[in-house]
Amino acid sequence: MGPAGLFCAFQLALKSNGKIRTILLDRGQPVEKRGRDIGALINRRKLNEDSNFAFGEGGAGTWSDGKLTTRIGRNSETVRWVLETLVEFGAPANILWKGAPHLGTDNLVKLLRNMRHRLVELGGEIHFGTKMTNLKMEGNKVVGVLTEDMDGNEHCYEGDEFVLATGHSARDVYESLHKADVQLEPKGFAVGFRIEHPQAVINKIQYGDEWGPCVKTGKGLTDKANEEYFGSKSEHIAKMPVPSYRLATDKALDGVDGNVRGAYSFCMCPGGQIVLSSTNPEEMCVNGMSFSRRDSKWANSALVVTVSPDDEILKEYKTKHGVMAGLEFQREMERKAAELGGGNLTVPVQRMTDFVDGKISSTIPSSSYRLGVISAPCHEIYPEAITHALRDALTNHFQKQMPGYFHPDGLLHAVETRTSSPLRVARDPMTLLAIGTDNLYPSGEGAGYAGGIVSAAVDGVHVGEAILDNICGDSRPNRIEKSKSIGFSY
Ligand SMILES: Cc1cc2nc3c(=O)[nH]c(=O)nc-3n(C[C@H](O)[C@H](O)[C@H](O)COP(=O)(O)OP(=O)(O)OC[C@H]3O[C@@H](n4cnc5c(N)ncnc54)[C@H](O)[C@@H]3O)c2cc1C
Repeated sequence: MGPAGLFCAFQLALKSNGKIRTILLDRGQPVEKRGRDIGALINRRKLNEDSNFAFGEGGAGTWSDGKLTTRIGRNSETVRWVLETLVEFGAPANILWKGAPHLGTDNLVKLLRNMRHRLVELGGEIHFGTKMTNLKMEGNKVVGVLTEDMDGNEHCYEGDEFVLATGHSARDVYESLHKADVQLEPKGFAVGFRIEHPQAVINKIQYGDEWGPCVKTGKGLTDKANEEYFGSKSEHIAKMPVPSYRLATDKALDGVDGNVRGAYSFCMCPGGQIVLSSTNPEEMCVNGMSFSRRDSKWANSALVVTVSPDDEILKEYKTKHGVMAGLEFQREMERKAAELGGGNLTVPVQRMTDFVDGKISSTIPSSSYRLGVISAPCHEIYPEAITHALRDALTNHFQKQMPGYFHPDGLLHAVETRTSSPLRVARDPMTLLAIGTDNLYPSGEGAGYAGGIVSAAVDGVHVGEAILDNICGDSRPNRIEKSKSIGFSY
């Protein structure tokens, strides 16, 4: 029930007027219960491995900033339809015209609840707390989804067409697909850290001394922190929006024979907070979110470096793990971070200036991460080529693009590894069927065809169209053209 699965089910139910019966299975919980599980994680360090920041209704992006930016273009028929559908179910109408629209967790939770009710009205069936453990195959055909519920009860859901939209945190799913000989391909991805600055620092960089103090969220603590940082109230009465940023270079030197890599920021959450996005305590991985008012004292963003499928740093992993090399690499980096954090979901951190100098931070600024941070040698986590490229990007590119960005209070949180899937489930570009199968449709980010809420939803719609083509023929009215495979981050 991430954006890909949900929008696919919607497309099928709406276009067939409820004649196609959709059954949605999710290992996680509906948003109401998921919210309580996330509360238990933040307040009592109780991690539910199937209901957390990655798993549950709405998928990985539900407790997020809900940024609806996408690199697949904003004006295609399907993107417009996805945005309009979100508005129909409760998103603010301004997402249709804003250049960088975002929803905030609070809005997302409401609209997901509304979508669920509508789907059920259209005859859809939803089973939460139901984890797919395997596919039941007969030759090239999937005949059922084998599942396990929270009490360990097993069941097989039968059907005609099967959509696999399990996201990229479901590593167990990749493993069972690999065992079942479903064709997987390695794919480029990016790894790094989540950087956090005080929001006031970003306000000053983006608006300067004159207008920086005009950033107001309406929340006393945040506005006070901003005033204190600037040392005076502004004479202007204007209220400036909480600013964001986006940085990128394709020329970050990685220290190996003049080799360059891409390095970029993404998923910037102004006025946000850093959250745990791993699904088990031995693998530490973070991400960012914010509420619609963007009213925290911090600004966070992913800062990552690209890793290509034929990258030298994956060589050893390829020998040992073949096509699963990228996934095992991500996992090892996450394990190192968990160890450096000392367990108990504490995140290892380092000032960006100390990261560049290769020394542990003797003091650390405050962090929005609620489960605690600890000063650690984060520069030792990644292979030298990644660390070198990030250092070069910070000092020789990003600081020039945004003077003041390379700031001692910029705190790196380890690690941000799950930016996009390191694998792709191979599929036919016309039928969107997994290669070698007659009725299995891989979709969304986990399958390697999306990166972000909007592109995952769009891919789900296209898979819905492919299924309708398969059932009704491709001359049916109101047919949407399917796009080519996509797999960008947002
Ligand atoms: C904290 C955070 C913040 C983010 N912020 C943004 C943002 O602001 N903007 C943006 O565009 N993107 C954001 N993203 C990324 C975005 O959430 C994903 O790109 C998007 O959700 C991918 O959609 P999907 O449907 O392909 O997969 P997912 O959203 O990952 O959904 C997969 C679903 O499958 C379920 N599942 C997994 N395994 C099984 C199984 N074995 N059996 C049954 N169910 C299973 C999961 O519970 C989940 O509901 C964020 C991600 C995170 C983690």
